[in-house]
Amino acid sequence: MLAEFEPVYLKLHQTGALKKRARKLYELMHDCVFCPRLCRVNRFAGAIGICQAPAELRVSSYNPHFGEARPLVGDVSHQ
Ligand code: SF4
Repeated sequence: MLAEFEPVYLKLHQTGALKKRARKLYELMHDCVFCPRLCRVNRFAGAIGICQAPAELRVSSYNPHFGEARPLVGDVSHQ
């Protein structure tokens, strides 16, 4: 049963839905309402909101983390 499990984000990628969500994310950053602060700054024009984050997004780290809910972790039987 566990070997048949596939994380939902893989299906989102395969169907193109993940790309569509990424586009929506970038749209939100033009008049930034990305979080409850609702700064409404255009991060692509160099404006900085309360978070001080630029338009360029960065992944701070990535690694297997099996302490999350099962839909996020996926199949751990091959680890
Ligand atoms: S704090 Fe940052 S992410 Fe949140 S709305 Fe303001 S600029 Fe956007």
